[in-house]
Amino acid sequence: MKPVMIVVLVDALGWTLAGRDPAFAPALRERRPLATVLGFSSGALPTAFTGRPTSEHGRWLMYQRARERGVFRGFGALRWLPPRVRSSRRLTRLLERVVAGRGVRGYFNLYEVPRAELAWFDLPERDDIFTAGGLPVESLWDVLERRGVAWRGWNWRTPEATARAEALDELASGRLDFLFLYSAGLDARLHHEGSQGAGVKACVSEWSAWLDAAAAAAVRAGREPWLYLCSDHGMVDVRATVDVMARVAALPFRRGRDYIAFFDSTMARFWWRGPEARDAIRRALDAEPRGRWLSKAELANEGVAFADARYGDDVFLLEPGALLVPSFMGRDPVAAMHGYDPAHPDMAGVLAANRPLPADVTHLAHLRRFLERELDAALGAPADRMGAAS
Ligand SMILES: [Zn+2]
Repeated sequence: MKPVMIVVLVDALGWTLAGRDPAFAPALRERRPLATVLGFSSGALPTAFTGRPTSEHGRWLMYQRARERGVFRGFGALRWLPPRVRSSRRLTRLLERVVAGRGVRGYFNLYEVPRAELAWFDLPERDDIFTAGGLPVESLWDVLERRGVAWRGWNWRTPEATARAEALDELASGRLDFLFLYSAGLDARLHHEGSQGAGVKACVSEWSAWLDAAAAAAVRAGREPWLYLCSDHGMVDVRATVDVMARVAALPFRRGRDYIAFFDSTMARFWWRGPEARDAIRRALDAEPRGRWLSKAELANEGVAFADARYGDDVFLLEPGALLVPSFMGRDPVAAMHGYDPAHPDMAGVLAANRPLPADVTHLAHLRRFLERELDAALGAPADRMGAAS
């Protein structure tokens, strides 16, 4: 029977949540934690798809500092609008349409970023990172296209139930050699309910059942199912909130004049306009017990050092389980969050398969090479490489 590779990436499915539970996806007997990267899915997914560190593919966080002609150009004028209008849903929808009209086809959300301050930032993800040519360096999708593999992928652009049904139909047809499903549903439920939530448990068992159904559909179509389940990061239950913005706002310095800041859910990033603001803000946040400034060496170690400081001159990171409230991502706390030190055990994702897992596949950045080796095993090595070997 010719194999068919079925790769499911469930965003935020952590090793501690499902990976070590033998009742979860029992057919996927080979399993292990998959170490993640510092940041969120906006950086983790490109690392998984390209196998390169963040500093090489350039995608770390959803928002970076604007250079020329950023997608939010002109948004500074929004500061003249009355606050009620500036924070309205209607304006948000209008601005989202403007951004999409400027050619952004990647995932973005304006969250609670102050609308006029958007002008200082930009969205690095402009294209569809789930397709060939969607990332600045070569990805798994480029390789699939180049090798002429019969494949299809689904991501957040398709409702999850539709994607799952369509994938089962494709498996029943026996037409494809490689299927890839990305799901953000569990990530959303985890943020909302925390790791003990009923919806979280239901979602995890739905995926377990779907993998069984996918394997059965492949077998009925005369294909041997090679199943892979992976995730880009885990999730940590929130135990404390930290008002970083208030500590900074209490100082006699102003955003825009003395510094620029972006407040993510778990980190605060700063671009300095002068040494006084920098020294005072660094001192003020040194007094915050639930977070710390990341050193240049740590940033380089995590693969997120950028010479042009596009993601910040300095980064203040909260400890696992602490959440910035408020932040530019939301005014209210959520039950669980990621984007912490990747070394925390709940931050690890998972890799599970009904195929042997080589010992050297332990990190998200190893996923692409592993899947390409599996592709060689399933379909035979590509013609050009065989030619080179002979
Ligand atoms: Zn998330």
